[in-house]
Amino acid sequence: MERKESNVRPADHIVAMPPSGIRKFFDVASQMEGVISLGVGEPDYSTPWTIREAAIWAIERGITNYTSNHGMLELRYAIAHHLETKYGVAYRAEDECLITVGVSEGLDLALRAILNPHRGEEVLIPEPCYVSYKPCTELAGGVAVPVHTSAENGFHITAEDLRKRITPRTRAILLNYPNNPTGASLTRPELEGIAHLAEEFDLIVLSDEIYGRLSYEIDHTCFSSLPGMRERTILFNGFSKAYAMTGWRIAYACGPEPLISAMVKIHQYTMLCAPIMAQYAAYEALQHGEAESDLMVESYSQRRRLIVNGFRRLGLSCHMPEGAFYTFPSIRHTGMTSIEFCERLLYEEKVAVVPGNAFGACGEGHFRASYAASLEAIEEALERMERFLDRIGALKHDVEAVA
Ligand code: PLP
Repeated sequence: MERKESNVRPADHIVAMPPSGIRKFFDVASQMEGVISLGVGEPDYSTPWTIREAAIWAIERGITNYTSNHGMLELRYAIAHHLETKYGVAYRAEDECLITVGVSEGLDLALRAILNPHRGEEVLIPEPCYVSYKPCTELAGGVAVPVHTSAENGFHITAEDLRKRITPRTRAILLNYPNNPTGASLTRPELEGIAHLAEEFDLIVLSDEIYGRLSYEIDHTCFSSLPGMRERTILFNGFSKAYAMTGWRIAYACGPEPLISAMVKIHQYTMLCAPIMAQYAAYEALQHGEAESDLMVESYSQRRRLIVNGFRRLGLSCHMPEGAFYTFPSIRHTGMTSIEFCERLLYEEKVAVVPGNAFGACGEGHFRASYAASLEAIEEALERMERFLDRIGALKHDVEAVA
């Protein structure tokens, strides 16, 4: 009898999907001793105590049940209040706000809620970008269309760059500012340009503002607060980065009721709701977490200058990031690919950073280093890098930033 291929196998499109370039690298780094990691994208702080205590309080009282699919109404009111007072954009807590399991879940829901699978519907994605954007767009049956940015203009995307990639199939623009991995943010006039374009071509804007609270150079403008944008934007924000809460898996999405309702439909069948204790913690973060968050932001900004100046002293050209906690220096002058550079740096000097091409093809020639690490770790990593660059004959001194 002819032998058939076993049914016990994953779907072809999942087999074809490459694993995240970040994870692959860190699986290796985590097996090595004495590695200084500037690789992971998470705060080096624990969640502030009062926030942890709020979750403990809920657990101690046996508050361990499901919540409404949308999430706890008190938390949604607190989020709506926060967005209105901080950015001047008003959302109805009842039906325009959804509590999600991280911005990760929110993005996945939104892409699945807006894209008609297999019609070739396109999402414009400025690159370099967060590693999930392309796979999640494709899992939702859409087509990810990269729009390249470069160090020469500080990795700022412009409306004109986006306009060139618009086709009759374009449905949405996926923005992320401040950006992972470049740390670039966008000014209000730049965002207004993108807003005009969204209006002209009737596009949905998915605005991932998870690093908005971590803005150092440019005051953060919430995209949906721009005239006419509330009606066509899904805003994503969360607690992972601003309040050092990555492990709690808690975030929110706000947008026009029909889009949020569509997202809730998927969420109710797949996730049901976000964990209730994390929702209590998030509520506390909004009520009393600002002061501690401010201290963390202040400290990231200080480390940012240390690391960028350190790179520049070693001859790596590096723009000053405007937000988040990432730097994206250039290694073009070494003649190595970003993977070669990062692998050798890891094996020879035990410093873990992420190859730039993990964030899209135009990240080639760069690496991402996070400065959510202690000052001592950053200083030691810079010393190790100096040794490495010297050894490979690529040590230059005092290169000016490109932008
Ligand atoms: N969006 C961006 C740009 C990120 O960098 C990350 C995490 O690194 C996420 C979303 C995921 O955030 P969350 O922990 O809320 O799922």
